[in-house]
Amino acid sequence: MREFQLPARLLLGPGPSNVSQEVLRALASPMIGHLDPAFLEVLDEVQQALRQVFGTTNAVTLPISGTGSAGMEACLVNLLEPGDRAVVAVQGVFGERMSAIIERCGARPVRVEAEMGEIVPPERLIRAIEASDPQVVALVHAETSTGVAQPIPEIAHAARERGALVVLDCVTSLSGMDVCIDDWAVDAAYSGTQKCISCPPGLSPVTFGPRALERLERRRQPVQSWYLDLTLIGRYFGGDRVYHHTAPISMILALHAALRRILEEGLEARFARHRAAHEALVEGLEGLGFEMLVPEPHRLPMLNAVRPPVDDEAALRRRLLAEHGIEIGGGLGKLAGSIWRIGLMGENATGAVVARLLDALRDSL
Ligand SMILES: *Cc1c(COP(=O)(O)O)cnc(C)c1O
Repeated sequence: MREFQLPARLLLGPGPSNVSQEVLRALASPMIGHLDPAFLEVLDEVQQALRQVFGTTNAVTLPISGTGSAGMEACLVNLLEPGDRAVVAVQGVFGERMSAIIERCGARPVRVEAEMGEIVPPERLIRAIEASDPQVVALVHAETSTGVAQPIPEIAHAARERGALVVLDCVTSLSGMDVCIDDWAVDAAYSGTQKCISCPPGLSPVTFGPRALERLERRRQPVQSWYLDLTLIGRYFGGDRVYHHTAPISMILALHAALRRILEEGLEARFARHRAAHEALVEGLEGLGFEMLVPEPHRLPMLNAVRPPVDDEAALRRRLLAEHGIEIGGGLGKLAGSIWRIGLMGENATGAVVARLLDALRDSL
C-alpha cells in the first residue's frame, strides 16, 4: 500500500476546522499508558482547562470518547428514564437529533419548533415548560445547520425554577462565543473538539452539575448505555482512576494542546476574533451578492448561513475545492441546495482567511 498524500485544505465548512502545528505535534507524541502518572497529569490539566472554557466549577467535566453526538447521547441517556418528558427546541438538524435521542431513551419529547433560520422564541419554550412540567429541557446553543444563535439564559433559569434539568448543546459555540454553564443555570452540557476548539474530531467534552448528578444517583434503573454511563466513566476521570475503557490517549494529548492555545489567547480575545472575522465575511459576501439567511441579531459568528447568488451552488463549491483547496459546507435538510454554511472556526477565524475566501470567490463567480 502507498503512503497517503492528502491535499492541503482550508476547512471553511461546519467542521472539522484546521488545527494548529502544536495540535499536530501533540498527535505525533509517542504512545503512553492511560493509567501512567504522567498521562494522568495531562488528564487533570485537560479537565481543569475544560472547566474554564465551559465557565463552570463542575467536578464532573471530562472528554467523552466519541464525537459531539456521543456527548449529546451521554447527557440525555444519563438524565432521562422511560416515561420522562423532555421539552426540546427544534429549529434545525441538531435539535431534531436531540429529539430522536430523547425518544430512544423511552422519554417523550415535547417539541417546540421554529423554521430553519429562526430562533425558538423563549416565551414559547417557557410556556411549554410550564404546561408539561418536564424532567429535562434540551437546547442547542449554536444550531450549525442554520447559523442561528439560540438565546439560552432566560429559558434555563425558568427551567431550573420549575425543577427541570437543562441540557445544552455547545458543540459549535464552545470557545467561539460566550458560554457560561454556571451563570446560565445549565445542568449538563456537551461540545465537540473539531469545531471552534480546532482539534480533530473524536472527543466530546461534557460537564455535569450537582443537580444532574443528583438525578443520576436517584435513577430508578441503570443507564441503558454501558459505554456512556457517567457513573462508570466518572470513576476513571474522578479520583479513583479505575479502568472503564481505554482513554483515546493521542486525542486527549491533542485536546491538551488545543486548550493550551485557547487559554493563552484568552476567551474574550478569542470571541472578539471570531466576531471580527464574521463581520468582515458578511461585508465581503454582501458585496458579492450573497444574502444572509439569519437576521442580524441571531447570527452565529462561527457559522455563516448564506444564499449564494448562483443557480448551481454545488458546482461553485466543487470549484472552490478543486481550484482553491477551500471546503465550504452545503445546506442540510430543507436548506440543501439553497444555502452554504461557511465556518470560521477556531484557527480559521482570521481576517487573512476571510480575505483568501473572498479572493477565491471573486475568481470563481
Ligand atoms: C457538529 C454538531 C453536533 C454533532 O457532532 P459530531 O461531532 O458530528 O458527532 C451536534 N450538535 C451541533 C450543534 C453540531 O454542530
